[in-house]
Amino acid sequence: MRNRHNRTIASLLGIVTVLLFGGWMAPDRLTDFLALEKIDTHLHIRYNGTEFLDQAAADRFKAVLIVVDHNNVAEQLKFIEQQKLLHPDRFRFVTSFQVDRWNEPTWQQETIKLLEESFKKGAIGVKVWKNIGMELRDKDGRFVMIDDPRLEPIISLVEKRGKTLTGHIGEPRDCWLPLDQMISESNRRYYKGHPEYHMYLHPEYPQYEAHITAVERMLSKHPKLRYVGCHVASIEWNLEKLGKMLDRFPSMAVDLAARIDDLQLLDRDALKAFFIRYQDRLLYATDIEISEGQNPQTVCDRLHTRWTEEWKYFSTEDEVTISGTEKKVRGLGLPPDVLRKIYQTNARKWYPGI
Ligand SMILES: [Zn+2]
Repeated sequence: MRNRHNRTIASLLGIVTVLLFGGWMAPDRLTDFLALEKIDTHLHIRYNGTEFLDQAAADRFKAVLIVVDHNNVAEQLKFIEQQKLLHPDRFRFVTSFQVDRWNEPTWQQETIKLLEESFKKGAIGVKVWKNIGMELRDKDGRFVMIDDPRLEPIISLVEKRGKTLTGHIGEPRDCWLPLDQMISESNRRYYKGHPEYHMYLHPEYPQYEAHITAVERMLSKHPKLRYVGCHVASIEWNLEKLGKMLDRFPSMAVDLAARIDDLQLLDRDALKAFFIRYQDRLLYATDIEISEGQNPQTVCDRLHTRWTEEWKYFSTEDEVTISGTEKKVRGLGLPPDVLRKIYQTNARKWYPGI
């Protein structure tokens, strides 16, 4: 009687475990996921609520919140200040600057002043966005690239203050290809719906390679600058090319934000070998954005699903569906010490202050 009672309790506990932790995940894997303090190095927030960073805490994630010159920078910094009151130890932030007054003579001075203020408030880095290279033009109508002389004092300041430059420069190479030659289905879907951003249709804009070489020229001028190339530095399609750039610039790392679905299209064994070879240079990141007006529970569910599915992809050899793809792929099964670097220690190294 007693035994049966114990068995009933044991099986109830088992059911509860499965319900709580999701059917696919063997309990030891979930323990691994929760055992490791992880860092998502690329998230955006325009939101004052508490739920999203509560979810991060539940999944043992810390966050790097990135401000971007896409909407109003000052407004995003206000959201960051609010989040500091709610979750002072759950995240750090990367600040940014606006280029809408680029052609004003006082732009550099104003920008330096704002960045210094941001550093005082705890910013660990400065984000430069793809509007540099793809949107901003100087007085003569030329596109401003990341190695533009007018950006020099800004980049030197980042270097001098020991901060990290976080660069989303360029786009996936698919952006410059006709729809039928793109390698990624999700890119094809996106550019079909956004012909304005599909650079193949706009040959007057800088070409793919021009963005990569501008970053290389900028890094050559600043060999000591810590640089994190977002979205695998827009070289998601060719591991050899990406490896050569990492070899050439030891002060550069890349985040994986929103490009895991591109990477898994490459040869799996080559990708696994790349992750092992460049294990000190890769930072886990998602690029999820949380804004006012979204249903917080929906966002939390999305975060949890994404974090657990991608953990499963990197840590096991099981079949996984990566966000952005419809088909199942086999996980990379990376060794635990590599996982720890990609999910935690690299973030601390490339973003001192976390
Ligand atoms: Zn982003």
